[in-house]
Amino acid sequence: MHSTEPLKKSNQKSNQKLTKNSETTPDLEKLADLAFKAKTLAYAPYSHFKVGVCLQTIETQAYFSGCNVENAAYPCSQCAEASALGHMVSTLGPEVKIKFIFLAADTQEPIWPCGGCRQRLVEFSTPETQIFSQTLVNQQSGKPPQSAYLFDLLPNLFSKNLLL
Ligand SMILES: [Zn+2]
Repeated sequence: MHSTEPLKKSNQKSNQKLTKNSETTPDLEKLADLAFKAKTLAYAPYSHFKVGVCLQTIETQAYFSGCNVENAAYPCSQCAEASALGHMVSTLGPEVKIKFIFLAADTQEPIWPCGGCRQRLVEFSTPETQIFSQTLVNQQSGKPPQSAYLFDLLPNLFSKNLLL
């Protein structure tokens, strides 16, 4: 379940920030390649809505991809973001932080993570974590992915600071 709302206000603001503060340039071609490859592996026999995600970490610059994994008991299904997060944390451990997130889908408009996945992703992100979203159609016609800062997509997020 992903929103296809492009969050235009947030994107415009984020694009300005990206221009001003781009000390680390994402390899969008590599991120897209890995995210779209992951999408082809998705298990989505019920919704037929295949999603691929690729995360790149800050410290090691390593890439971790994941796809959605559905289940006949629908609530047991897992979003692609959760798959990629599990892949990343089980490889690099609990201190890992995300620099870039790339979402790939076959939709007409770029998709953004569902509410639950926004919360999952911010747990391992910083205010500098950037998210990109691309569709197959837009990629094939040469359009760049849309982008935003993850924290802009989840205002008033629930953080561990609230538990201390
Ligand atoms: Zn989700």
